[in-house]
Amino acid sequence: MRYWDHHSHSLFSADSDAAMADMAAAARRTGLSGILFTEHIDLNHPSEKEGLFFSVDMPGYRQAIEETRAENPDMIIGMGLEVGLTGPENQAYFKTPGLDFAIASLHVVHGKDPYDGAYYEGKTRHEAYLEYLEAMAEMMPYAEGASVLGHIGYAAKAAPYAAGAAAMGYEEFGMVLDEILRRAVRYNLGLELNTSGYDSPAGHGLPSVDILARYRELGGRILTLGSDAHEPGDVGRHFKRALMDARAAGFMEIAVFSAMSPRFIAIDRLLNS
Ligand SMILES: [Zn+2]
Ligand SMILES: [Zn+2]
Repeated sequence: MRYWDHHSHSLFSADSDAAMADMAAAARRTGLSGILFTEHIDLNHPSEKEGLFFSVDMPGYRQAIEETRAENPDMIIGMGLEVGLTGPENQAYFKTPGLDFAIASLHVVHGKDPYDGAYYEGKTRHEAYLEYLEAMAEMMPYAEGASVLGHIGYAAKAAPYAAGAAAMGYEEFGMVLDEILRRAVRYNLGLELNTSGYDSPAGHGLPSVDILARYRELGGRILTLGSDAHEPGDVGRHFKRALMDARAAGFMEIAVFSAMSPRFIAIDRLLNS
């Protein structure tokens, strides 16, 4: 597929030990035309208490990108960041020199990461999801300047609910989702369709098709695909399914980024390549 994965991590992220060369080789094996790395920067993440810091060694990262480009001259190797939404201070990272792409992601809700089971303790499912989405709505001003908004629905990805019951859709949370999506459109901020959700209790891409359709209805046009792979085996996972979902939501084109600017490729062309 003449597309490159727009969400992946290597050992420059605190929660991955994958070599960049192995991730690029996996993209090649999967038939992708490249890979865009989006290493984690998340200030004051709760895991710092356990000594895990979501910061990036930028000189080392730049050098590894240059080496990977030199080793794969026929592929697109993108340099991106996944920046945690924490407040005004996170916006400086969207202006990192040489950056191709920046994802703005909410990983921490009132001091807890919903990827950790403790987040859900003492909350109903509805409360847990609403608190996550309301925190995201509050953080939207600090997403301005990023390329796309990361994995809407993240709280459903590690939710302790049975498959099916964990889904997070527009119908239940339309009001707060509209707040998020309207602001994304106003900022010319894209969405990503994060394909790690298909294998999670949520059972759908992040976000779900109805949320994508609403973004489009409100005037949103920029959509990227990302696997959120932290290891080679996950690079490019479920991209065909995601393209079908994007089309079901009304998208005819999917975006690719370089130097922080989007270009658009027809979905039908990708499905036939
Ligand atoms: Zn993330
Ligand atoms: Zn990620």
